[in-house]
Amino acid sequence: MSEPSIFSRIISGEIPASVVWQNERLIAFHDIAPRAALHLLIVPKTEIYANVTDLAAGDPQLLAEMVATAATLAREHANGEYRLVFNSGASAGQTVFHVHAHVLAGALTEESLA
Ligand code: 5GP
Repeated sequence: MSEPSIFSRIISGEIPASVVWQNERLIAFHDIAPRAALHLLIVPKTEIYANVTDLAAGDPQLLAEMVATAATLAREHANGEYRLVFNSGASAGQTVFHVHAHVLAGALTEESLA
């Protein structure tokens, strides 16, 4: 058995996070190192999908729910406009191999690309 991901440890409550929303399948919380005025992470509660390619193949409905959740949270926490980023692979900047979407909004710069 591999160790639970850092996000699974947040989902279980072992590690605190600033959670803004959750349901049975997804959780959303503020990134610990924000790169925009609003920087949320949307994370499936299962860690069986390492990246968005695996998620799209294995559970496209869950991916669609993540996109819908991003739009809702961007309306609630910003002006409704947002950048949605999925880093896939270490050389693309992925550091946590438990699929997650970055929702960035407000005064975006190129450095906001997660
Ligand atoms: P990645 O680099 O894999 O696309 O994104 C991982 C993100 O998780 C990074 O933006 C990083 O700041 C965030 N992160 C890593 N550890 C924690 C943590 O313990 N709590 C929170 N809230 N965010 C974290």
